[in-house]
Amino acid sequence: MKTILFNLTNAELEKFVTDMGQPRFRAKQISEWINRGAPNFSVMKNIPETLRNDLDRVAQTLPVQVIKKLESSDRQTIKFLLELHDSERIECVLMRTSYGNSVCVSSQAGCAMGCKFCASTLLGLKRNLTANEIFAQILVAQWELRTDKFNEKPVHPNGDANNNDVSHIVVMGTGEPLQNTENVIGFMERANQDMGIGWRRITVSTCGIVPGIDRLIEWGRPINLAISLHAPNDELRRKIMPIANKYSIAEIMDAAWRFTNTHNRQLMIEYILLGDAQGNLLNATPECANELVEIVRDKNCMVNLIPWNAVTEREFSSPSGNAVHRFQDILIKNGVHTRIRRERGTDIGSACGQLRISG
Ligand code: SF4
Repeated sequence: MKTILFNLTNAELEKFVTDMGQPRFRAKQISEWINRGAPNFSVMKNIPETLRNDLDRVAQTLPVQVIKKLESSDRQTIKFLLELHDSERIECVLMRTSYGNSVCVSSQAGCAMGCKFCASTLLGLKRNLTANEIFAQILVAQWELRTDKFNEKPVHPNGDANNNDVSHIVVMGTGEPLQNTENVIGFMERANQDMGIGWRRITVSTCGIVPGIDRLIEWGRPINLAISLHAPNDELRRKIMPIANKYSIAEIMDAAWRFTNTHNRQLMIEYILLGDAQGNLLNATPECANELVEIVRDKNCMVNLIPWNAVTEREFSSPSGNAVHRFQDILIKNGVHTRIRRERGTDIGSACGQLRISG
């Protein structure tokens, strides 16, 4: 198996290079390339070609390698299918937004949570990702931003981020981050320290692992928390999210409000609007909207309504535009901050886990 140079300490990289009969300064050159996200050795133009070829035989730069790259027709979203050293595959998504360049990273290969509407869980959980494997997804996106045509479009006029830098991170890709809490924390510490990404620009999304939320409170950094709620009562939630058998909505929301109170942050609530296979509304009825209002009434939160993005392996339907707006109107009339979030890059299978399944 090839040595993954990104995983080596500076001292280990120096030894690796000198063991190949090279001077020590080569280690610094290689390290600089790797920290910029260099996907291979051939791009390292300040290193002799013979050494690049030798390195390629025994080593790889990052712990993830791009297998496939899909760009949406509006060129605002790029989805990467990545392969890990043990051939497991994960996804990450780079999104150009009005506020900067955001990357959605995976925290696990697969997922054990079994949410009925999600493609990521179809093959179960394979394993947790290491902090390095999560961080390397950011480097893949950063490399793309700095080298690709993606940059030709001017940054959004309201954008405050450097056009070439990742400015925001959402841990919302494949996997449940709070089933891999310590590695996710290690990743966030590194993203903050090494890439200067502020805590308030990092969001962790969970389906409601209460001890994991408590661990984030103990960790103490003022990141954003998103709860994937998707149902306004336990009975309905149990039908679409097995985790509801373990933690009630009351327990999850209690932990979530404790988190947001600690950091004076707005809680994000993710709510996918679903119909059943026959086209009947499932969690998108007016009654559900009223129940949801009671959960968030007078709280500092934003409800993101997400019309279901068809996953062919799952038997749901997408509610009509009228149903979506009727649901939103009920929230708005009751003073709830809400917005409809259209899935980005639907033309490239942007729903979580779709690319990994179709390969
Ligand atoms: S929605 Fe999230 S927690 Fe649920 S199965 Fe998919 S990846 Fe896992």
